[in-house]
Amino acid sequence: MAKTNMMADESHRCSGIVFDIKRYAINDGPGIRTTIFLKGCPLNCVWCHNPEGQSPEVQKMYSAAKCISCRQCVYSCPLEACSLTPKGIVTDKASCTVCGICAENCPTKATELSGLSLTVENIMAILEKEIIFFDQSGGGVTFSGGEPLMFPQFLNMLLDACGEKGIHRTLDTTGFAKTEILLDVAKRVDLFLYDIKMMDASKHRQYTGVDNSLILHNLKVLSQSGANIRIRIPLIKGINDDQRNIDETARFISTLAGEVRVELLQYHCIAKHKHQKLGQEYNSNGMIAPDAERSNQIIAAFQAYGIPVELNFSQVESSS
Ligand code: SF4
Ligand code: SF4
Repeated sequence: MAKTNMMADESHRCSGIVFDIKRYAINDGPGIRTTIFLKGCPLNCVWCHNPEGQSPEVQKMYSAAKCISCRQCVYSCPLEACSLTPKGIVTDKASCTVCGICAENCPTKATELSGLSLTVENIMAILEKEIIFFDQSGGGVTFSGGEPLMFPQFLNMLLDACGEKGIHRTLDTTGFAKTEILLDVAKRVDLFLYDIKMMDASKHRQYTGVDNSLILHNLKVLSQSGANIRIRIPLIKGINDDQRNIDETARFISTLAGEVRVELLQYHCIAKHKHQKLGQEYNSNGMIAPDAERSNQIIAAFQAYGIPVELNFSQVESSS
């Protein structure tokens, strides 16, 4: 699906496809949080930790390591779309309607569906049970993905409902959305976790599939609107840890309005099994974080611009 179509795709909806809900999250904003992962993203980052969040559709996932070759999925499929082969279960994607019957019948969860349609009411029922933990810890809800801004109407309804309950609202975003959508959503958000991957536009396109000019423009406008922003930068050796990129990033951040904090995320390669479960090629083999010495130099580079910065060893990752 074209990126621009994905951005404009949402019609009136009060439900969305959620691919994970992580309770007791402590790295997705302040305090103890519940992170809701919405399915669908206009970016296609090579190092993505949540590849099951890229497609806005419900998807079938299969883990050969969990499969006991019982054939329950094969017997239960009304369309004869899956078969057992020496390499495990193979699904004929042209025939499969992703109905989920095979997943329901799989005794080991080797076959699963990623993505569940939930309404605002469904999600609020989950969040309301956690309010006591949010209140005691200064936490709240974090909407992540994927890219939640792909579904502004659903997101705004969720944010409004959380606001009515006094739940602190964090939005984890790539910033790749129409500026007017971002600013409208921003009226309902208490904290943004806003990603910057790299400053070079062609490199950004190469590694994420999209240009970064809209992302940087939106960040500037968002900071001018008075939004509370924490910028998150995944640090990947040889991709974005070079001095030129770090200096350009720090210089850009230093021009933003208000106090903007930076969180550097040490990259770790943990999503290989998810790509395998989706039957996708894994392209970030060998990507690692910079070593401690380089990370300290990068921290110092941001501090030289007067930017508050911290190093975080975890990422906003679903538990799929
Ligand atoms: S999801 Fe439905 S159609 Fe697809 S393989 Fe499973 S049972 Fe068959
Ligand atoms: S039902 Fe599950 S465990 Fe059995 S063959 Fe299918 S995928 Fe494997």
